[in-house]
Amino acid sequence: SLLVHWVPLVECGVVTGVVAVFHDISDLRQMEKMRRDFVANVSHELRTPITIIKGYAETLLAGALEHPTQATKFVSIVHSHADRLASLVSDLLTLSQLESGAVPLEARSVKVQEIAERVVVLLERKIRERGIIVDLAGLKDAPSVMADPGRLEQVIVNLLDNAVKYTPAGGSVTLSAADREESVTIAVQDTGIGIPSKDLSRIFERFYRVDSARSRDEGGTGLGLSIVKHIVQLQGGTVSAQSSGQGSTFFVTLNRADPTYGSGIAPAAAQ
Ligand code: ADP
Repeated sequence: SLLVHWVPLVECGVVTGVVAVFHDISDLRQMEKMRRDFVANVSHELRTPITIIKGYAETLLAGALEHPTQATKFVSIVHSHADRLASLVSDLLTLSQLESGAVPLEARSVKVQEIAERVVVLLERKIRERGIIVDLAGLKDAPSVMADPGRLEQVIVNLLDNAVKYTPAGGSVTLSAADREESVTIAVQDTGIGIPSKDLSRIFERFYRVDSARSRDEGGTGLGLSIVKHIVQLQGGTVSAQSSGQGSTFFVTLNRADPTYGSGIAPAAAQ
């Protein structure tokens, strides 16, 4: 859409004509719409657990406290929704920090295998409870990447957590790496429910979910993948997802810490 501005042409204090100035404001409008949608989404996401917490607290106060079995059940529901709120606020903070550039990202040589091993320890309980097998063997010989170790850990936490969440018991998640001269592509592949092709291009958007009810049941915030995308892009990398029928694979490409050519000095400048 265009916004027209009429600017008078003045010569020696006399208006001699007008000039029409056209501004293309479609980008501005689009950004404003995205901001409004985001605020609406956040409000909706926050309101759901708050409503539930209030409802159960009121029921408890109205007399359910007198019935220990009921009371325990209600308090545990309150607890799990308070957890959801905490994850949401924490994800929102992370996103806003990443967007404002408030926290500079470190860039140092990082071993992907070491980070992945730490992540498996962090998620060990969930992995075990779900009966999922996680295979890291494919990361053994991966070259190091240039990254912020804490942020890369978060990327792998989010991808592995999703893989575990969206894979039925007995399934497996395989991490592997493929290297090129200047980059390393980390793949997180699961044997889970997969992602319909019409949704594949949108799952990195904030709050986009294939199945909202399922995501919420799993404690998802709908922000995990947008955080992944942000972190990776801030480090000069790319992300993508693939799914065909059975299972999904997420790819993260980052710069190699030791590129085998093009060490950053162009041949002409190196003379
Ligand atoms: P959520 O908190 O809902 O998991 P994400 O941003 O991490 O949010 O993911 C967005 C959506 O992408 C999920 O709701 C789910 O529908 C889909 N998704 C992500 N990872 C996988 C996966 N490994 N297998 C199937 N679907 C997935």
